[in-house]
Amino acid sequence: MALDTDETEVPYHQLFINGEWCDAEGAATFDVTEPATGRLLARVASASTADVDRAVAAARNAFDNGPWPHTPHFERARILHKIADVMEERAFELAELESRDVGVPIRKTTYNDIPLGLHMMRVFAELARRSPYEPLPWNDFPTLTWSFVWRDPFGVCAQIIPWNYPFCMAVWKLGPALATGNTVVFKPATQAPLTSIELVRMIDETGLLPRGTINMITGPGGSIGDYLVAHPQVDKVAFTGSTEVGRRIMALAAPHIKKVTLELGGKSPTLLLPDADLDKAIDGALFAMFYHAGQLCEAGTRCFVHTSMYDEVVERMVARTRQLRIGDPLELETDIGPLISFTQRERVENYIRIGREEGARLAIGGGRPVGALYEQGPYLEPTIFTHVDNRSRLAQEEIFGPVLAVIRYEEIGDAIAMANDSMYGLAASVWSRDVQQAIEVAKRLRAGTIWINDHHMLNPHAPFGGFKESGIGREMGVAGMLEYTEPKHIHVDFQQKRSGKIWWDALLPPEHEE
Ligand code: NAD
Repeated sequence: MALDTDETEVPYHQLFINGEWCDAEGAATFDVTEPATGRLLARVASASTADVDRAVAAARNAFDNGPWPHTPHFERARILHKIADVMEERAFELAELESRDVGVPIRKTTYNDIPLGLHMMRVFAELARRSPYEPLPWNDFPTLTWSFVWRDPFGVCAQIIPWNYPFCMAVWKLGPALATGNTVVFKPATQAPLTSIELVRMIDETGLLPRGTINMITGPGGSIGDYLVAHPQVDKVAFTGSTEVGRRIMALAAPHIKKVTLELGGKSPTLLLPDADLDKAIDGALFAMFYHAGQLCEAGTRCFVHTSMYDEVVERMVARTRQLRIGDPLELETDIGPLISFTQRERVENYIRIGREEGARLAIGGGRPVGALYEQGPYLEPTIFTHVDNRSRLAQEEIFGPVLAVIRYEEIGDAIAMANDSMYGLAASVWSRDVQQAIEVAKRLRAGTIWINDHHMLNPHAPFGGFKESGIGREMGVAGMLEYTEPKHIHVDFQQKRSGKIWWDALLPPEHEE
């Protein structure tokens, strides 16, 4: 995986289909560039619909005729642990690659993203061992029977991920699908596919998965993603991305009643209760918002502050934001790197304009940082708007950039009502010294994950997913594993005599009773 800047040395990554690395049809490629510098990082095969057909056929064959769906659970667990071992060996290299590819600060990739991805893979390996049986009570109507639930893998899973958090996202798609015996056609995002490609390469290098169990196609979502989702030979779609594309995925899955799990957008609130410890809560709310320049689905984009401390909180937030270091993502001191692309920056800047037009007050930021370094990439200042109306576009629409809306409230009930007044319901955080009170607030918030005195902390044992238009289904934990299986009821009758069977009464009696 050379990272040489010389164009002739730029790595080229192929598709992975039926256990082989191969070119896309017509040897088509697309370029992957480093957001911070615009430098070419890699050329990647750009799949066509014919390539998708080949990948789906390989996954179909591996599922219908291969050993993976019937491989014992302990063996699947062993293989996932082996994959994690390889990931562990390459952790630092992966952290640098992820930082270059996404523009995310290397402190985050080194100390969080790659170790978390590794931890997740180990947890999925442990969950793979769990008995698939769900005990049911014995049933004695009409006669004694024993029933149990067997968990079947779904079959061929199409898995599509976004660019913002690619390594972890790839792990939390591939890990549970493999742990439960499915086969996969995996599509990383075009903007930042490199660590996903490396993950597939590491899995391939273990040589432990049967041919065709994992297939990877790279290329534009609008054409090959669409085609993959609609493909009649695909049984399940697991998608992470925007709510807009999520709606399209549901429509494409409808004709074949495909199972879908959707992890979509968010507009998550942070609630600073009147008794919050501001030394923690102010940094916490800024971390919730500006971690990875606000390009995280669960980012705390709306901060609800009690009127009694509103002015103090705003003043301290602004002072603290001024200290954040915007810079080269490969520098350890950097807090905020560039956005993923110039297009994304334009989109975020458009929201800053909308915020101003809507009458919100710009407390800090709103522009591009000045200096030679910042000319090279789509950098943007961390931005805070105060006096924001929760019904405004600034507070309702997902911006996916470093723009915080601070909203005043009088009563905690008002804060909860405004926090819930959103089409999204992905996550929230509550900041209070009184944990019991914070739990009561958490129970009333309509979101899939609520942190108390924290934010962004993903736990691979806990379900993650969205209420409302933030998604369908859950990832991670046992709930996430079950999303990759069909429950199958197996009924065993212990009644040895025909006369004990309920169908005895429904059918004509035979001439001779045994
Ligand atoms: P996106 O929806 O534009 O793209 C996501 C993926 O879908 C990419 O691989 C893309 O190529 C593919 N795609 C695009 N159009 C498609 C189509 N018609 N059919 C099939 N696939 C298609 O999202 P993005 O800009 O890459 O990522 C940002 C979004 O992802 C934000 O909305 C963010 O909130 C969301 N996100 C959600 C979670 C979560 O867990 N809920 C996590 C991370 C990001």
